[in-house]
Amino acid sequence: MGEGQTIVIVGAGQAGGWAAQTLRNEGFAGRVVLIGDEPHRPYERPPLSKAVLAGQAPAGSTALMKPEAFDKLDIDWRPGTAVSAIDRTARLVRLQTGDAIGYDKLILCTGGRARRLDIPGADLPGVFTLRNLADAAVLGAALLPGKRLLVVGGGWIGLEVAATARKQGMEVTVIEAAARLCERTVPPEISDYLLKLHTDHGVQVLLGTGIESFASSPQGGLGAMLGNGQRLECSAALVGVGLVPNDELARTAGLQCDGGVWVDAQCRSSDPDILAAGDVASWHGQWAGRRMRLESWQNAQEQGIAAARSALGVAVNHQPLPWFWSDQYDINLQIFGMPAPGHARVLRGDAASGSFVLFFLQEGKVVAALGPNSARDLRFARRLIERGTSVEPQKLADLQIPLARL
Ligand SMILES: Cc1cc2nc3c(=O)[nH]c(=O)nc-3n(C[C@H](O)[C@H](O)[C@H](O)COP(=O)(O)OP(=O)(O)OC[C@H]3O[C@@H](n4cnc5c(N)ncnc54)[C@H](O)[C@@H]3O)c2cc1C
Repeated sequence: MGEGQTIVIVGAGQAGGWAAQTLRNEGFAGRVVLIGDEPHRPYERPPLSKAVLAGQAPAGSTALMKPEAFDKLDIDWRPGTAVSAIDRTARLVRLQTGDAIGYDKLILCTGGRARRLDIPGADLPGVFTLRNLADAAVLGAALLPGKRLLVVGGGWIGLEVAATARKQGMEVTVIEAAARLCERTVPPEISDYLLKLHTDHGVQVLLGTGIESFASSPQGGLGAMLGNGQRLECSAALVGVGLVPNDELARTAGLQCDGGVWVDAQCRSSDPDILAAGDVASWHGQWAGRRMRLESWQNAQEQGIAAARSALGVAVNHQPLPWFWSDQYDINLQIFGMPAPGHARVLRGDAASGSFVLFFLQEGKVVAALGPNSARDLRFARRLIERGTSVEPQKLADLQIPLARL
């Protein structure tokens, strides 16, 4: 790939932004077109449920790179522009404006959108979702001290928004249809830990409770009918019930998709000239032992880089050890690897304290680790996992033995 050739990136988010700068870092001298339907240069989303939502960081602070650095990349950047179709035969993308742009390689970084509830009143003013800067601005304005926020969904985004709203002086109720918090991603011990963390901070958490409908309240605000028959009055509601991958462009173009665009470890879709990266990409993850999508900051960056290199013909094998973090109150919780129910579990430290590590072992090897406020220990845990070190469980649990020695 070189001068005279065009690489088009659809989606100017984190993965798209990394793909664009990687093409230049790798010396690609051809045309790079970055098309995004948001008005912003590529930015990172984690602060949207934390500092940006709390009004403690300006929107611009989340930018992936400084405007000058972005401009230096000499990219044909198309902000506020949606791609409406891919024509694989003509090798071009069609824009909603009616224009078309030809490509030699196409990288899809379209991310996902917040799943919406299909219930009466789901579209009422005051019912919010959170995916982008515009969402954070309107939700942030609705975080009113002394009022009640209802959070529907006890997953990561719901819990982070609950913590931010609580810190803003709101009353907060979290309802979760499952029997425990973050059920899909953490074991019961950590769900219990999160439950205690939030109830200790004054959040009302209702587990095993769904939502039936929203209605405008005569006093202003919303009345929420819960699955348990209770009616709850709130000034606003945040719906955090998961993500729908934006794979429609790929599906309509006939690429293999099922809950995301199917790619291989070289980020190539079923059409080798079309690649995908970030929240929209689904591939066979070595650490999970199955096909998966990773909705994480780390994966958006690393897969964006990998897709760009792969588009240039560099051999890549995108199999990073999954890493995810969440900040709630004064807790930084990190997860390395993919904990699974079949793994043996070893606790290092006291689960009742604010700092401990839970290790997950398979055939005597550490395959995953997670914990709150344990960044140092988790750095060593990461090495144990990546090196496939066999460790005696009692040594892992022994606080007198520094992990560095293992
Ligand atoms: C509120 C929030 C908090 C988070 N917190 C954490 C965290 O603490 N830790 C962590 O590891 N991860 C976190 N994440 C996850 C992480 O931010 C995402 O995994 C990451 O942003 C995914 O990057 P992406 O580039 O794949 O998608 P995105 O960043 O969503 O970018 C996709 C872009 O493509 C655009 N687009 C879609 N379709 C089209 C089209 N047809 N034409 C043009 N443009 C299009 C979208 O509008 C969007 O701008 C958080 C996410 C959110 C939303």
